[in-house]
Amino acid sequence: MKKKNGLALGVDVGGTRIKAGLVDNEGRILKSQVIPTQREKGAEYVLKQIENLSNELSKSTAEKILGVGLALPGEVDNQRGYCLYCPNLKWGKLEVSKYLTKATGLPVKLVNDANAACLGEYFYGGGKGVPTFLSITLGTGVGSGLILAQRLCTGRFGSGVEAGHMVIEPNGYPCACGRRGCWETLVSGPGIIRRAKAKLKKMSESKLARGFSPEGQGLTPEIIFQAFRDGDPLARVVVEETIFYLAVGLANLINLFNPYKISLGGGVAEAEEIMCSQLMEQVNNNVFPTIRGKVEIFKARQGYYGGLVGAASLWLHKIETI
Ligand SMILES: [Zn+2]
Repeated sequence: MKKKNGLALGVDVGGTRIKAGLVDNEGRILKSQVIPTQREKGAEYVLKQIENLSNELSKSTAEKILGVGLALPGEVDNQRGYCLYCPNLKWGKLEVSKYLTKATGLPVKLVNDANAACLGEYFYGGGKGVPTFLSITLGTGVGSGLILAQRLCTGRFGSGVEAGHMVIEPNGYPCACGRRGCWETLVSGPGIIRRAKAKLKKMSESKLARGFSPEGQGLTPEIIFQAFRDGDPLARVVVEETIFYLAVGLANLINLFNPYKISLGGGVAEAEEIMCSQLMEQVNNNVFPTIRGKVEIFKARQGYYGGLVGAASLWLHKIETI
């Protein structure tokens, strides 16, 4: 894919933070700013913040800015420039691109945040040069992006690829999407906490269980992982379950798409207890024998700014969607 000259402005809007930065065609962030989203103040306020950030950053350089790449946590229609639905921000259909172009004088491209993270890893991280590549982000939810034969797979309606909503347990916990037992309900941060909470009353031999009320107020994945390292039996069960569910989902995806590589990002993937040889072993036990051991799964290298850089890449690389 041919590189373009000039800088791009990448903006990644999350439920908690807005990250914005000037990115060059090597994926380097030349200048960045992070501010709280304050989503409770409404869409108009958040858009005004994005406008101010964009104007400030673009005025700070003499170089040509090709455009703004805006990553939103939900469904977008890039062709028409609309946010379609961002449940996390409580945004419905909004004419985002038109507003921002008018306010900044720059053309705007929209992308789903998980797809932005995928592009960031694909162009500048561990997915570089890999024709079929999958990125998974394990955080508050489970985000995913797929590069299929060098094209970003967004599907017919632009909402692909939602691996987090593939059902793993049909009679499982209700998911925000309306189904039950989605992958996200099992291996996201809140999913891990919920499974741990359900065991608090049942495992009195666990120090972790004794340290929390039956409601598990204040329990976090980090506390669970630390307890696992300290040999706690409850934490061990929760971590083993997490690896099991993670492996089932990854094996499904490997069998479906035969990617060369998969990156795992987000807070949960930071834990060594999760990114371990046991995970790889279980994945390999679940995939077709012919592809056993052939797919590399690694920790995402782009990390915190992956979405920002990926959003900017919309202007720095030619990207086809499928
Ligand atoms: Zn779901």
